[in-house]
Amino acid sequence: MTERYDAIVVGAGHNGLVCAGLLAKAGKKVLVLEARAEVGGAAVTRPFADGFSVSAGAHLLHQLQPRVMKALGVRIPLKSERMPTIALSQSGDHVFMDEQTAVGVSDQDAQAFTEFMEWSDTFAGFLNKQLMKPPPRLGSGSFNDTIKLARLGLDLRMLGKADMRDFLQLIGQNIYDELDARFESDLLKGAIALDAVTGTHTGPRSPGSMITWLYRLCTGGHVSQPAGGLGAVSDALAERAEALGVTIRTDTPVEGIVVDNGRVVGVDTAAGRFSSWKVISNADPKTTVFGLVGARHFESTFVRRVHHLRSKGNVAKLHVALDALPEISGLRPEDFGGRLLVAASAEAVERAFNPVKYGRCSSQPVFELSFPSVSDDSFAPAGKHVMSALVQFAPYDLAGGWSDVARADFHDAALRVLEETLPRLRDLVLHSELLTPVDLEAEFGMSGGHWHHGELGLDQFMFVRPVAGAAQYRMPLEGLYLCGAGTHPGGGVTGAPGYNAAQVILERERSR
Ligand SMILES: Cc1cc2nc3c(=O)[nH]c(=O)nc-3n(C[C@H](O)[C@H](O)[C@H](O)COP(=O)(O)OP(=O)(O)OC[C@H]3O[C@@H](n4cnc5c(N)ncnc54)[C@H](O)[C@@H]3O)c2cc1C
Repeated sequence: MTERYDAIVVGAGHNGLVCAGLLAKAGKKVLVLEARAEVGGAAVTRPFADGFSVSAGAHLLHQLQPRVMKALGVRIPLKSERMPTIALSQSGDHVFMDEQTAVGVSDQDAQAFTEFMEWSDTFAGFLNKQLMKPPPRLGSGSFNDTIKLARLGLDLRMLGKADMRDFLQLIGQNIYDELDARFESDLLKGAIALDAVTGTHTGPRSPGSMITWLYRLCTGGHVSQPAGGLGAVSDALAERAEALGVTIRTDTPVEGIVVDNGRVVGVDTAAGRFSSWKVISNADPKTTVFGLVGARHFESTFVRRVHHLRSKGNVAKLHVALDALPEISGLRPEDFGGRLLVAASAEAVERAFNPVKYGRCSSQPVFELSFPSVSDDSFAPAGKHVMSALVQFAPYDLAGGWSDVARADFHDAALRVLEETLPRLRDLVLHSELLTPVDLEAEFGMSGGHWHHGELGLDQFMFVRPVAGAAQYRMPLEGLYLCGAGTHPGGGVTGAPGYNAAQVILERERSR
């Protein structure tokens, strides 16, 4: 006799938890099965050295959708809110930024920055309206899809004629040319270029880096640090889901999604079979299709599309336990509570990206740094500190493979390059850990160690995310759904895919 549920969610990443919570709130009996010992997927806080812990995947919160949190009634206590961004210079002439202003640049650049952010916000605003809606199916002929498409067209039209034209033109463009045309400060250009490409396989000169910049803006903007790190967000979502009646089982990897007579009927685990007519996968699309269901259950064109899904990560994560905060000329100790960027120029970001196209690591990587221990003493012993860094770029498929030597080389290169801006950093290191995309894949179960579970490019965006035929969270197999970062609108700790997936499932039930 197997246990039967209204829905089974595979994976307790933050999106799986959101989806499960919303289904339970609607009265469904929901089971969440998570492979790892903790909930949260890549939004997790864990120890990495004696007495030190870190947000081991995602480390800053800037995209979590208020609507998701409101729907679930979850509030996340923050240790730092609206953290400033500081683009570090080796000479000490840093640039300080928030969402509207840049300080430390010429008056002309300061004004151009404010104008650029307003201009970007116009288009991000249009995209923001699409975040919490499943994309309509193209050419389905259904009344619902036609209405949704008309609404999308109306949102676009509301931009006004000039902005609408600009938007359609710029979505395929690169951010590099736009920055070059607007600004003189290399540091300012480097900071925006880095934000535009973080987590993707694009350099600032790649077509499409404009859309990734807008995606970043449209999902949020204000950077914050939750008390207890990103794991606290996941814990709060899990706690709420359980309060709503969801059963969460950790340490329970799903070995297979069971298909019978052309439809999903449950999942198999080492602890036995769990039955449900609905299985919602928070795992990435490739893992779901090839690892859990099996390609034989899908039509060959669909299988080919999923096979070709681009999902090779380029971000490595560096965690450093420090004896003290480094000293950076021109920076006050409290400035370490901000988000620090090390990217000398847009060209430096492009040059850092170039090698990964050929399976090599950047010799001059670029970085986003946070020092969570500055505002939250739960991360390190008194007087000590933690540095958490996104290091770009490191290819998933490194030529020759990620041997221990290759990992140690990139680890050393990252610390060496950082020391050009954070002098004597290495003297302060008590312990450090580097996670390559291969390590991220192994730890978090995300194919390719990819931030978005699949590249965020125009060919994998909105109507065709993750692939045509599955862009409405529903897979072409009765009863199977996706709810993770691989679906619209994409990755980041947003909760949007989980929310949208739950809406689709509930709407489908209502219409039956
Ligand atoms: C290095 C790195 C840094 C990042 N930094 C940031 C950041 O600072 N801010 C930000 O907003 N975003 C950041 N991101 C992106 C963000 O972490 C992800 O987009 C987000 O966590 C995806 O959430 P998810 O719930 O969709 O999937 P995941 O977090 O990947 O969760 C999926 C879950 O499914 C589980 N699972 C998979 N297969 C099975 C199975 N067979 N059985 C049971 N369980 C299974 C996994 O164990 C996992 O818990 C970063 C990503 C990376 C890789």
